Amino acid sequence: MSILMPTEAGEKPPLLEVKNLVKHFPQKAGFLSRRSGIVQAVDGVSFTLDSGETLGLVGESGCGKTTTGRMVLSLIRPTSGEVIFQGRNVHSLQKDELRRLRKEMQIIFQDPYGSLNPRMTVGQILGEALGIHHNLRGKAARDRMKELLEAVGMSGEHIPRFPHEFSGGQRQRIGVARALAVHPKLIICDEPVSALDVSVQAQVLNLLQDLKRQFQLTYLFIAHDLAVVRHISDRIAVMYVGKIVEMADKDRIYEGALHPYTRALLRAIPIPDPHLRREYKELEGELPSPLNLPPGCRFHTRCDQAMDICRMKEPAFVEAGKGHRVACHLYSGS
Ligand code: SF4
Repeated sequence: MSILMPTEAGEKPPLLEVKNLVKHFPQKAGFLSRRSGIVQAVDGVSFTLDSGETLGLVGESGCGKTTTGRMVLSLIRPTSGEVIFQGRNVHSLQKDELRRLRKEMQIIFQDPYGSLNPRMTVGQILGEALGIHHNLRGKAARDRMKELLEAVGMSGEHIPRFPHEFSGGQRQRIGVARALAVHPKLIICDEPVSALDVSVQAQVLNLLQDLKRQFQLTYLFIAHDLAVVRHISDRIAVMYVGKIVEMADKDRIYEGALHPYTRALLRAIPIPDPHLRREYKELEGELPSPLNLPPGCRFHTRCDQAMDICRMKEPAFVEAGKGHRVACHLYSGS
């Protein structure tokens, strides 16, 4: 009798598998631009993403989450590690294979002002994607543009207009329509609401939720705080200076976070209801420079539970419950 591996036994493999991804940027300085150090932007990041799932990737600015997203899309080459999408390593594909694969993976950018070409109308922006990837032109392209715009809460009347004629929320909707134009399976949402007014943020998040169901999408949702990803994510990965320090189902993160950094991020979520009492505390201290990382646990310079071992030994990323992993000496038994 043969022993079948889980995937051979009929379980679906993940849509995306990120394996030990590393990105180090050489830092140059001085007159002759000599190498002066290495920025360890991403340092051994691994996760999987099942079809139809949303993984929230959360951490402060500069922690490496956007670089991770760009490596998944093959916009940046990793120093080492692998990105397996639908069973294929995206960094070992030939140019034309990668171009075909790009249809399946799209990105929604943070800045709805900078991400749309101001000299192109909405029709030209959407038409570009439809023409290149689906060979749609003329009336067929226009009908599809109308459908896409209606899906994001706009209309065909917007087709001849330019980006400057729209509000930030509307521009982000156009960015979403552009991403949808090529029928992607995976969308990297790179802080898609952080540049928007709070009142508009919820509308765009609800729209992304609806579109996920309607178009059977999978999201890697990048954000700098835990408030934004709460309702949209199935699982959350918390990143700190190039590493994932905690990963679990959403409920475990919000109800039973273990890592002191995750707990500090949770305490830093503003409380909108004055009748609700919860400890609120802004996260103190600066993120260490990825050019000069502290030894041991990278969070020890800001952690109120730091022990001697934390200053010397880096904690392993260990299982702390079903599907819950954490990198902290408080839970590693070391
Ligand atoms: Fe804090 Fe130590 Fe845990 Fe790092 S390993 S988070 S310093 S307790």
